[in-house]
Amino acid sequence: MIRGVPLLEDLGDIEGKHVLVRVDFNVPITKTPAGERVVADDFRIRAALPTLTWLREHGAEITACTHLGRPGGKPDPAFDVSPVRARLDDLMPGIKLLENLRFSPGEEGNDPEFVLELIKGQDAYVNDAFGSSHRAHASVVGPPKYLPSAAGRLMAREVEVLTGLLDAPAKPFVVVIGGAKVKDKLGVVRSLAARADTVLVGGGMAYTFLRALGHSIGASIVDPTRFEDCAELMRSPGNLLLPVDSKALAPDRKLSTESQGDSSGTGDGSDTDGTDVKLCGLDIPDGWRGVDIGPATIVLFSDVVASAGTVLWNGPMGVFEDERFAAGTKAIAEAVAGCPGRTVVGGGDSVAAVSQLGLEDKIGFVSTGGGASLELLEFGDLPGLAALRAAPNARPDSHNEPEAAR
Ligand code: AMP
Repeated sequence: MIRGVPLLEDLGDIEGKHVLVRVDFNVPITKTPAGERVVADDFRIRAALPTLTWLREHGAEITACTHLGRPGGKPDPAFDVSPVRARLDDLMPGIKLLENLRFSPGEEGNDPEFVLELIKGQDAYVNDAFGSSHRAHASVVGPPKYLPSAAGRLMAREVEVLTGLLDAPAKPFVVVIGGAKVKDKLGVVRSLAARADTVLVGGGMAYTFLRALGHSIGASIVDPTRFEDCAELMRSPGNLLLPVDSKALAPDRKLSTESQGDSSGTGDGSDTDGTDVKLCGLDIPDGWRGVDIGPATIVLFSDVVASAGTVLWNGPMGVFEDERFAAGTKAIAEAVAGCPGRTVVGGGDSVAAVSQLGLEDKIGFVSTGGGASLELLEFGDLPGLAALRAAPNARPDSHNEPEAAR
């Protein structure tokens, strides 16, 4: 799908030219004991360096821009980009980084006036913000209407790897999908199930499937508007595997991610005496919540992953932020890392699990985009790519390939 999308080489001579680069530096921020905001994980910043380096080596004057968090269209010091700027300056000094794009309502509103303001004084535009390119926001889709434009190296590589999964995956092709929001992921499950040999469904979304099949799921997370879709997917193509057991949390007990406001809250990881957490089979008792896959499911899923020719993993297998329910996600991270086939991990939570376990080096490709990678896999295209394809310097018939594939 990179076909027709201009690459850096298609920008022409950029010596001394001003180039606006949309990056996705929406990174996690933490506070030091002294209260200073700092970047907790610079994976996405490092991922943009090849593009920034190429532009600098070719003499461009670079202005980078990104969003950070959800400030809601107005300036908010809690979301300013100063920690990102500091980290970028450590990694590659001298790059100008604009203030958080989402401080203006024009960014998410795709306001043409905001686009004109952004491109003022710029001669060319590069989109290296793969993780933001599923959004038709001003900085993603606006500049290519006016400026010679290109996909950056990261963007090109992401698209190449992910669409490569759809074109010619080594068999068996196994997809592992988890996370909480079934309605966000049903489309991609449907489209991947048609191509994959097996789809393993874990995490909160599995309970809507289990309920649709008539199982009791207690108080587990569920989306009753999707029972029909889930039942249909189980019938056809019929290659979905669901958890066979769950770790469940007792009624009225809290996860560490939930507020600790009342006295029943015990989500501190200390209540593993068997009264608060128990192992359930396919059915979960009233009031209990399934919040991780159980040991039998870990074995079942890990075996399928171990013999895969290609694995794509997106979404945690449980509420892994609470240490009591992290075992399923960790086990899947280890199984994916141990798979001798081609492995691709996408989605913030799965990537976080992989990096917490120090397994990044054992994964074939770690995507910087969660929602973007799912949309690309579901629809085969993204608004950010379509905008680049319509840029003034694009050649509709070009068969571009990123450098890595040359
Ligand atoms: P998503 O944004 O849909 O990928 O969901 C990610 C979130 O799903 C994580 O924050 C997990 O804590 C949560 N999650 C995973 N499994 C469950 C579960 N069984 N019940 C509730 N939340 C879950």
